[in-house]
Amino acid sequence: MLPRMRWMSFALALVLTACTRPAPRAAEAGALVRSGNERLRAALEAAAIPDALAAAVLRAEDAFLPELLAILAERDGYQRLLVDKQHPLEPQQYVPPDLVELTNEGAFRIGRQGLLLRLPAAEALQEMAEEALKDGIVLVASSTYRSYEYQLEVYARNVRENGRDQADRESSRAGYSQHQTGLAVDFGSITDAYAGTPAGRWLSANAGRFGWSLSFPDGYEELTGYRWECWHYRYVGKPLARFIDAWFAGVQQYGLRFVYEWEGLSDGLEARP
Ligand SMILES: [Zn+2]
Repeated sequence: MLPRMRWMSFALALVLTACTRPAPRAAEAGALVRSGNERLRAALEAAAIPDALAAAVLRAEDAFLPELLAILAERDGYQRLLVDKQHPLEPQQYVPPDLVELTNEGAFRIGRQGLLLRLPAAEALQEMAEEALKDGIVLVASSTYRSYEYQLEVYARNVRENGRDQADRESSRAGYSQHQTGLAVDFGSITDAYAGTPAGRWLSANAGRFGWSLSFPDGYEELTGYRWECWHYRYVGKPLARFIDAWFAGVQQYGLRFVYEWEGLSDGLEARP
C-alpha cells in the first residue's frame, strides 16, 4: 500500500485531470480529496455495484485506490476492456494485434488445430497450465479466439438450432464476444459437467492467481447477459484478477464495469450517458 502522502498527490493529479471542464471544486487539498471520493462514489453508482460491495470499497478507499491506479497505469488497456452485450468491440470487426497459434508442445492440450490467442494470454495460459500439471491436472483449450466472421456463423447456427432467446443466453453476436478479443478460452468439454471435473475444480480455485477470471458465474445471468459458463475464462492480467477477487466478490463484470465507469468520469464528475 502506498503511504498516505503519495496517495494525496495521486488524488491531486486525478482531480486535476478531472478539471479540464470548469473547475467544479474549491482548490484546497481537503476539497480535492473529497472530490476523489465523489468520483469513487459516482463510478460505483454508475456501475451499479451492489451496496454491500460498494460500502466495503468506500470504507477501504486508501487501500482500494492505489490498486485501481496501478491497473489504470497499464498503457495498453486491453486487459480491462469491457466487452459485453451493451459494449461491442470498436470497430466491430476488430482483430487483435498479436495472435499466436497454440500447440500441443506446451503444458496444456488443444482440442483442435488452429486455435489462436493474443500472445500475453497464450503465455499466461502456459504458466497456469504448468502449475496445473504439478497438481496432476491437464488443461485442455477447446475454443479460443474467434473472428468477427466466424462469430457470425457461430451465432447464426445457434439461432437456427436453439432459437434466438436461447442463443442469446450462451452465444454472442459478432462484435460483442470476449472470444473476439483473443483473451478468452473455453476449457474442456464446454458443458456444465466440466465444473465437477478435477480440471474444472482446479481452474475455479486457481485461475485468478494466473490472471484468469471466470466471465459468466453461476447466478449472474441477469448481470452478465449469459447463463453460467463454468468453462469460459478470460485473461485480465494478474493485478486486475486480484482486484476483481478482492473487491468485487470475484465477479468480473462488476470489476470491468466499475473500471470502465471510473475512466468515463475522467473529464468531469458526470457519469457516462
Ligand atoms: Zn466461451
